[in-house]
Amino acid sequence: MQLFQAKPIPILMYHQCSPTIFQQQLSWLIDPSRGYVPITLHERIKYFENLVSEPFNETDIILTFDDAFQSFFNDIYPILKRLHISATICVPTNFISSEPNTRCSWNGSPTMTWEELRILKDDGFEIIPHSLSHVSFNAIENDKTKLRNEIIGSRDVLAEKLGDEPAAFFCFPYGAGWGKTIVEEVLAEERLSALRAEYKGEGWNRFRIPRWNISCQPSFADLFEAVSGYSC
Ligand SMILES: [Zn+2]
Repeated sequence: MQLFQAKPIPILMYHQCSPTIFQQQLSWLIDPSRGYVPITLHERIKYFENLVSEPFNETDIILTFDDAFQSFFNDIYPILKRLHISATICVPTNFISSEPNTRCSWNGSPTMTWEELRILKDDGFEIIPHSLSHVSFNAIENDKTKLRNEIIGSRDVLAEKLGDEPAAFFCFPYGAGWGKTIVEEVLAEERLSALRAEYKGEGWNRFRIPRWNISCQPSFADLFEAVSGYSC
């Protein structure tokens, strides 16, 4: 599939961040002197599905939060809600508890419950699959059945649990697996687009949509790089 060379709409990748630092970074982005406007992937779905001639705004920016940590719900969601800003949550579905009144954790931190994810969905947040088990696709790269299960299984669990349409986007665990033919076959069969975890100026298409990792530090350097494409 054709690769596009033009820098794509900046997609920022967060995991966990202190509310104070996130508020500072968000204020930097939306300050009238810069005027970035956070939108969702679905608002530009035609653009990401390779119709790059689709119009978009120079001020478009997309906020993504990986791994569905409870800290997002407690600390970041209230900030975004107050400003009527939406974001995209990437969910490794095995780490969301199926039992009421219990909570799972991933990577040492508690994750959200289905109820919390439903609240976010009902509030206009975009919830997309991030695999079932958060396995690195490098570890299962020759097993199409397992790859399908991780990709399609997590998409279908989300749709069922949230009572939503099947997501049109997938988020690679560890950012691994993009560019592999077998992975792109599964994505193409299911008409899914997929998010990577980095951008170093390579070409991109709907199966390898770049993101910029944003450190939760009192610095705007990562943001500057994401919106401008240059380091400062
Ligand atoms: Zn992850």
